[in-house]
Amino acid sequence: FRERKLIVHIIPFENRRQILVTHDATETERIEEMRRDFIANASHELRTPLTVIVGFLEIAASEGLDVATRNSHLKLMTEQGHRMQHLIEDMLTLSRLESVDYPMRPETVDIGRLMEQVASDARALSAGKHEITLQIDGPDIVGSYDELHSAFGNLASNAVRYTPAGGKIALVWREFEAGIKFKVEDTGIGISPEHISRLTERFYRVDKSRSRETQGTGLGLAIVKHVLLRHGGTLQIKSEAGKGSTFIVCLPKSAIVPKQAELLLGQA
Ligand code: ADP
Repeated sequence: FRERKLIVHIIPFENRRQILVTHDATETERIEEMRRDFIANASHELRTPLTVIVGFLEIAASEGLDVATRNSHLKLMTEQGHRMQHLIEDMLTLSRLESVDYPMRPETVDIGRLMEQVASDARALSAGKHEITLQIDGPDIVGSYDELHSAFGNLASNAVRYTPAGGKIALVWREFEAGIKFKVEDTGIGISPEHISRLTERFYRVDKSRSRETQGTGLGLAIVKHVLLRHGGTLQIKSEAGKGSTFIVCLPKSAIVPKQAELLLGQA
């Protein structure tokens, strides 16, 4: 439940009468609050790695360090630098996806190529620690290759990052009565029910330290949500803590590229 904020303007009118104009500012306030939260979260996320970098630079400047210690500090600083880069890239992606001045450029998306790329990125991230399978049983679609790559890639990389070594991850693309489904199923740590509805909020994480340890920015599922909004798709999350999770993307039938034969018949 949220209190509503009504602003009342009293405008003097002729014959000592007045006009009351009410304006519901609840939505404007909510957007403003989201904007403030985003800036506060983003600043905090950037400040943490920067503090580490500055701290090490100060040590390097003040003491004569041996080569091994200096190299280990350089390694840590590079990691923190990459973390900042990754976060800024995700923030820029998200702001582009939300911008009305950045329309989606639809093209025919070669699903075979896209899925192979998503699976190979996931295998590289897993470095042999998981069994990752890919099943393609559905047609190509119309959409933005890069946006879908980013959305599906985020779901697949989450499956790797939240599944302990030895677990299984299945990526499935298939057609069903109402359209297309892309399913990412893992046997990982799972998610308790109270978190599920909030996962696509920016910077919402069930476990901040695990997300950071595995290079998470906390923006992956917010990016997925925005890409799907632009493609008329939906996201369904089924999960049980300790057992694993399934993320299911549904795209409408209208996204399917018509088969060549049907196109030719249509032209005849
Ligand atoms: P992050 O960069 O933290 O992974 P995301 O927006 O991609 O950010 O995901 C938000 C949160 O959802 C994660 O921090 C994690 O707690 C949870 N999550 C996402 N995918 C999975 C998954 N496959 N298994 C368990 N938890 C997940």
